[in-house]
Amino acid sequence: MTIAAPELTRLHELHLKLRDVRDELARGPRQIKAREQIVAQSREKQAQAEEQLKQFKAAADRKSLDLKTHESKIGELQAKLNAAASNREYDIIRGQIDADRVAMSVLEDEILELLDKVDRKRTEIGDLEVEVKKAETEKQRFAAEFESKLAGLESRAAELEEKIKATETGLEGDVAEKYRRLVAAYGADAMAAVEGGVCTNCYVGLTTQTQVFLRSGKIIFCTTCGRLLYLPVAD
Ligand SMILES: [Zn+2]
Repeated sequence: MTIAAPELTRLHELHLKLRDVRDELARGPRQIKAREQIVAQSREKQAQAEEQLKQFKAAADRKSLDLKTHESKIGELQAKLNAAASNREYDIIRGQIDADRVAMSVLEDEILELLDKVDRKRTEIGDLEVEVKKAETEKQRFAAEFESKLAGLESRAAELEEKIKATETGLEGDVAEKYRRLVAAYGADAMAAVEGGVCTNCYVGLTTQTQVFLRSGKIIFCTTCGRLLYLPVAD
């Protein structure tokens, strides 16, 4: 095999860098989606508040109408009162008028309470509108930022893929085959540095003989986790 420790070290570094770039590429759309969900949730809250406002207003309108009905009824009763033929009739009408007045007073309180709710709901809707706008701005800002980085990230990934391809040519035959399977399964974790005689992927120590083979430039796969091992060389 014609690949030495420095190339293997570099190959692993390239895989790790490629993983970072790919992670960033995958993270962007997820983060945009999360921001879109925040926008949708804020809009939903606003729509709910607007629906509640509509209901409060409708209830206030209904009660105002009831109030008017009682009012005109009192007017009619008052006319009857003036024309009452007996004390008994007078008392009955008087009682009806009093009952209507009590009903009106209850309705007035309820209407005031509803109008207060309408006011508070309007304030809440105003706040929610601000919230929606803020969420939209943040989503747009993030999407534009990611968009501006996208081309750079994609060309960086392509560049790293090319470099990996060029470095991989040092691996041949069965070793190359095994390496490709590992990369397909584990990506950058297909390879593991050996530090202090230990595989840094599974942390199992290598036998002395394996370490000797590794030092002599043989291609070794970890007997425990199967990763392609290498002795890291600093630049
Ligand atoms: Zn291992």
